[in-house]
Amino acid sequence: MINEQNQLTGYIHSVETGGTVDGPGVRYVVFLSGCPLRCQYCHNPDMMKMKRGTQKTIDDVWGDIAPYASFMKRAKGGITISGGEPLAQPDFTHELLKRAKAHGMHTALDTSGFLGEKATDELLDNVDLVLLDIKSGIPETYMQATGVSLVPTLNFALRLERLNKPMWIRFVLVPGLTDDPDNIERLAEFIKPLKAIERVDILPFHKMGEYKWKDMGMDYKLKDTHEPTLEEIERARAIFAKHGIETR
Ligand code: SF4
Repeated sequence: MINEQNQLTGYIHSVETGGTVDGPGVRYVVFLSGCPLRCQYCHNPDMMKMKRGTQKTIDDVWGDIAPYASFMKRAKGGITISGGEPLAQPDFTHELLKRAKAHGMHTALDTSGFLGEKATDELLDNVDLVLLDIKSGIPETYMQATGVSLVPTLNFALRLERLNKPMWIRFVLVPGLTDDPDNIERLAEFIKPLKAIERVDILPFHKMGEYKWKDMGMDYKLKDTHEPTLEEIERARAIFAKHGIETR
């Protein structure tokens, strides 16, 4: 978005300067606000609406990141653009990635892939790793979990495969919602032939964001859902393993 002074701006939810879960090494993570999905288990529902974030210019945001660039490089980390959904603000995301690459930082894009068509090839040229959340293998389950179609995400994964762009797949295991063996089976079958996938993470559902739904007056549908037991996680791992896919 361009402001009245003709500067590129973006809506920012928050940043984290020592992230260790959103890509390799220690990372500077920028969480952009705005997301077209409505995941039942979202732990940041306050990020769904873009304008709840703070509008900042690209120079301001980059100015905060730049001093960390050499430390992140030494820590074998980099920058991750996350959200919300970073591709809801493609121009801002692209410019951040471009600046980070120009400073020699490793770059990661954390996305649901639903807006994959907004990522130009030039944007992806500035991405070293895509953290792709595939929230279900069965389209109906995906729709139930997120409120949107699975097709754009799968198409984006296939495009990344054609570009040979490294991917880490992330799958949130929610008892009673995404843990049906058939759902996991379908996801495993989809990802099995994709050679650009470097790693598959099973993320156990947790309720740490439940209070935010209440604070915002939104209906939290998973209040009676339990966090997955170790046994349930192992069961999911075993289905991926049957397809030769190691999970973390
Ligand atoms: S994609 Fe992420 S930010 Fe968007 S609703 Fe789902 S969990 Fe929340």
